[in-house]
Amino acid sequence: MNRIYFDNNATTPLAPEVFDAMCPYMVEDFGNASSIHWYGQRAKAGMEKARGQVAKLLNARATEIVFTSGGTESDNAAILGIVEAARGESKHVVTTAIEHPAVLSTVKALERRGVSVTFVRAGASGLIDPADVAAALRPETVLISVMHANNELGTIQPLEEIGRIAQERDIYFHTDAVQSAGKIPLDVHKMGVDLLSLSAHKLNGPKGVGALYVRRRGSNVDLEPIIDGGGHEGGLRSGTLNVPRIVGLGKACEICRQEMAEESRRLAGLRDRLKDGLLVRLEGIHINGSLEHRLPNNLSVSFPGVDPPTLMAAMSDIALSSGSACTSGKPEPSYVLQALGLPAEVASTPLRFGLGRFTTQEEIDYCLNRLVETVKRLREMGRIAAA
Ligand SMILES: *Cc1c(COP(=O)(O)O)cnc(C)c1O
Repeated sequence: MNRIYFDNNATTPLAPEVFDAMCPYMVEDFGNASSIHWYGQRAKAGMEKARGQVAKLLNARATEIVFTSGGTESDNAAILGIVEAARGESKHVVTTAIEHPAVLSTVKALERRGVSVTFVRAGASGLIDPADVAAALRPETVLISVMHANNELGTIQPLEEIGRIAQERDIYFHTDAVQSAGKIPLDVHKMGVDLLSLSAHKLNGPKGVGALYVRRRGSNVDLEPIIDGGGHEGGLRSGTLNVPRIVGLGKACEICRQEMAEESRRLAGLRDRLKDGLLVRLEGIHINGSLEHRLPNNLSVSFPGVDPPTLMAAMSDIALSSGSACTSGKPEPSYVLQALGLPAEVASTPLRFGLGRFTTQEEIDYCLNRLVETVKRLREMGRIAAA
């Protein structure tokens, strides 16, 4: 059986060039990047090259990149680090209701420690209104954290406008760009962000490595480290650096930067082929989230009346995600789709199609035919059962 991978918003396969770049750093160039001897310096050189490659993807400086263990750690380091360093008796954070759990759970942990948090709601198309962010600000607001692209919907938030609001009010601005990094152009200055999280395994790099951009132009960002130790990464993230993975992250960022223009056109074309085919051939389906402000590689479709786990089980050769949290094996409506105020039958029946570097047109056409046939069959079975 041929298997098809359509879950590139969850993770991506390692690019072969990335694997090749990493290998020497696991064998010959194994040194500790902090050591001053030849072995250490070889490792350090590989790591510093990667720092430059990551910075270039963001239009940042190499000195503004801190390596972490991934997107989750970067989000934690940014949010906890800013709130911890902030002065004042009462502290307030503004974020959104549709963030990744790496942000949501972190701010909820802060709430339990007495920090107040406002969760700005998204509109029905999955977009945050900058005016709602502005309206949520208080004198004691220390941080705004708004994701760039949503992991379930692929919708892209208007960061430039939010960045301007943050700058005017002199409030730190963090974005979780784990889904958008490598997919669409990122420019930390245009977006007006002080901190940005990204993760290698979402852009054909290795798992367990990521980066946090920390602005170093103008006044310094006041950030308390969440991991203390030997003072690596300018004291912001201690621990011996994972050079092979960092090298992989750098190489993956470089490939993305070089291929982005062409690859995003290709993926958007394939995505639209899937979308248009579904809309023509199936009735009563719902495309979730704005199509205009959206990553090129993502499509979220709800099939009211069809249970996503049943649909996925009937197409077990295609790796998809329902985009909804699974608590104790029971599918729950997606909190993201619920936050958009979508009806329950839409919020509880999404499938997320995450296209990637290795997706082909043949795979799209195969998936389209399988889906149409399977949805029709399941709907027919439902009708018979109900009769
Ligand atoms: C995957 C993801 C994360 C977590 O990144 P890890 O590297 O897996 O820890 C955070 N935010 C978003 C939006 C993601 O999609």
